[in-house]
Amino acid sequence: MIQVTDIALTSFLAQGYGENSLKSRAAGAYLGLAVGDALGATVEFLTPGEIRERYGEHRDMCGGGWLRLRKGQVTDDTEMSLALGRSILDAGGVDPETVAEAFSVWMRNKPVDIGHTVRRGIVHYRQTGETQVPEDDYGAGNGACMRCLPVALAYLGADEIAVTRASQLQSHITHNNALADLGTLTVIRMVQSALLIGERKELKHLTDDLVAADGKYAYENKRMDSPSGYIVDTLRVVFQSLFATGDFESALVDVVNRGGDADSTGAILGMIAGALYGVGSIPGRWISALDEDITNAALEQAQSLLHLSPFCRGIC
Ligand code: MN
Repeated sequence: MIQVTDIALTSFLAQGYGENSLKSRAAGAYLGLAVGDALGATVEFLTPGEIRERYGEHRDMCGGGWLRLRKGQVTDDTEMSLALGRSILDAGGVDPETVAEAFSVWMRNKPVDIGHTVRRGIVHYRQTGETQVPEDDYGAGNGACMRCLPVALAYLGADEIAVTRASQLQSHITHNNALADLGTLTVIRMVQSALLIGERKELKHLTDDLVAADGKYAYENKRMDSPSGYIVDTLRVVFQSLFATGDFESALVDVVNRGGDADSTGAILGMIAGALYGVGSIPGRWISALDEDITNAALEQAQSLLHLSPFCRGIC
């Protein structure tokens, strides 16, 4: 029964967008982010051993976790992405005041989870009106990276300077740190490369460039488990899982079973792998567990943001 629903939903989505089309990849990126967040949140802060004990291999949506989530419920990673995406659509691009206001409204509505650095940045905006926090080590958390997908979509085909500027404007509202900027820009480039080219070796080149820019990001020597929210730990695990697997489901199962900051590793890997493999590759049982309004908002934003991009120029 579940299997039939699974196949029906997946093929419906794939057909609706055309298999492997740019639209399918964009929808895959946004739903990939949401399902990775929801799947990972169940096991956030656990070690791989604790996950094995409680869930065997964690591969089904079941909610719970330290946040006591409903089955399929997403957290701040997806919610902040949707807030950022809406603000980009409202302003026609990343306008820091519009984004900061959207984050502030989101925080006022008592989100199920909010990172310390994110809260600090939004409070800073409310108190000073400034849309940039001072540069510091707190900014090396993964909180700006986990919500970067709308920038990747809206700035598809934009020149390097414009993409970098848009990424930093949205990031620096809460996280102002050069190491995080490098990692976040790499994730945006990986999503854009997956959308336009769709080849794993291109994604590998982008991670090689990142490691060349800062050796802290070297990820190939030692397997990492229980990644923290430090952007370097988070991305090393994301890259390991991406390149150790060959399909969306295996990649996401691999990364969330490493535990640690599993909702954010799931969200970031989900957006890259969803863009690479397309929406038809995401298990239907995961998509159908999401709240319908989250699925609809993700699908709507994926297409609207793409439509806004210089690559599409309002045509696709
Ligand atoms: Mn989260």
